[in-house]
Amino acid sequence: MTNAEVAACFEELADLLELEGANPFRVRAYRNAARTVAGLAESVETLVDEGADLTELPGIGKDLAEKIACIVHTGTLPQLEELRAKYPTGVLDMLKIPGLGPKKVAVLFRELGIQTLEELRAAAEAGRIAGLRGFGKKTEQSILEGIEHLQTAIARVYLAEAMPVAEAIREDIASLDCVDKAEIAGSFRRRKETVGDLDLLVTSTDSERVMDRLAENEFVEKVLQRGETKQRVRLRMGLEMDLRVVAPESYGAALAYFTGSKEHNIVVRRRGQERGLKINEYGVFRGEKRVGGKTEEEVYAAIDLPWIPPELREARREFEWAEQGRLPKLIELRDIRGDLHMHTTATDGTATIEEMIQGAKARGLRYIAITDHSKRVTMANGLDATRLRKHWKDIDRVRGRISGIDVLCGVECDILEDATMDLPDDVLAEAEFVVAVLHYGLKLPREQITRRLLTAIENPYVDAIGHLTGRLIGRRPGADVDYDTIMKAAADNGVMLEINAHPSRLDLDDLHAMQAAYDYGIPILINTDAHSVGGLDVMQFGVFQARRGGLEKRHVANTKPLK
Ligand SMILES: [Zn+2]
Ligand SMILES: [Zn+2]
Repeated sequence: MTNAEVAACFEELADLLELEGANPFRVRAYRNAARTVAGLAESVETLVDEGADLTELPGIGKDLAEKIACIVHTGTLPQLEELRAKYPTGVLDMLKIPGLGPKKVAVLFRELGIQTLEELRAAAEAGRIAGLRGFGKKTEQSILEGIEHLQTAIARVYLAEAMPVAEAIREDIASLDCVDKAEIAGSFRRRKETVGDLDLLVTSTDSERVMDRLAENEFVEKVLQRGETKQRVRLRMGLEMDLRVVAPESYGAALAYFTGSKEHNIVVRRRGQERGLKINEYGVFRGEKRVGGKTEEEVYAAIDLPWIPPELREARREFEWAEQGRLPKLIELRDIRGDLHMHTTATDGTATIEEMIQGAKARGLRYIAITDHSKRVTMANGLDATRLRKHWKDIDRVRGRISGIDVLCGVECDILEDATMDLPDDVLAEAEFVVAVLHYGLKLPREQITRRLLTAIENPYVDAIGHLTGRLIGRRPGADVDYDTIMKAAADNGVMLEINAHPSRLDLDDLHAMQAAYDYGIPILINTDAHSVGGLDVMQFGVFQARRGGLEKRHVANTKPLK
């Protein structure tokens, strides 16, 4: 049982209880428990096995501790099973539609008997929803848009969720004596923010043995198809994985082919044709004769290019860069020195000031900014001027006791719907770091969104804009931002733009990070937005996004020393 799986049980229970109209405090307790468990550095299963006292974890009382043990031992909870029997899974999918809260979903289920997204779409298209109490034409329209958005996203999972499982499987296969090379190709290797399915490529003298080993893996639910050198399995986490055992002389060609992207490969093949070569998953051929394909370097050399890092293979600028010998030396996790966006128990974090500082220090960071929420975010217990100033005093006291890391008294300040800042200038002026963000009113028209962002960018005390669009991948589209205007203004005003490293945000996205850094010269920040000590570990995913944007160390401000 992974921490993520335990957390998912609590999240699902909270969703189902909301449908039941349960006490909101109970629902929140389960959501907090989910976040606590997901953010733990240690395995909760190990903690339970060792008989650790789980009530020492933040927000975990006796009842929740018992429930965690029950999930670890049985994989579920009796209460969860009861509710699952009552509500079909399609009803939970409806909760993922923006603007459809549990109350509305419960009405759709009870009054119209809607159980799936398909039924929901049909009802909306037939105009049967607008007539319900508490619904209207507008809701009906946004349901249709929401379904559209969900269906493109639903089959994919966050890279961060897929990675531990995919790596564990790869390592297990690679440990076989009969296996030489084993690598996961596809969008996984390009470090795309979500993963649809996994392609495992292997060279081996014994494909039967490799396929048997994969079939027995603990993460594999069942074998869907098996051939001589190819096997398709479904993983317990829901993704499917294709295993291909390829000949050593084809390995590089297969790796390039299955890594993609499709658009990138089209250009590779075309450059091959221009040179009288045929390039496919088996190799590089001149007529019938194999002239390369054992390694990826051979494939690229055949088209007169240096090897291109997988993260860049999107047919954007990589061919131009490669031709001119200007391929970037991509940023790496170890280049990161600071993290300028995180939360504590002062607002909606689960760790104290001291725990966050120690956690950051243990991860080798040289400096951080603690940036709790401003007052508009009432859900997160956001801080007004008085509480914020007291919080800064607390931070100041704690940082004075801890050496080896610099800590800034910061704030994550909301940009309000009316294009003013959530805190007055005299307060922002006292902050040592201000990251300004949109949390509310994300659906406002482009002009208003852009005006709000400009207010923040032109404010002399704002250092950076955090999670620019506010999107949550697969759950909520981001605000409609006029990027050109925003980036020009950010460059003019010396305001940095953040790549929020949280796996559900990764906002800026890769393309806009590339534009900001290369076309506008805007310094980029990669921040975790950690709400727990474990949350600091998502930095890697922000770095992946930056690499996809072609960013080098020099483009990223928090690779530099704090002045
Ligand atoms: Zn935020
Ligand atoms: Zn935040």
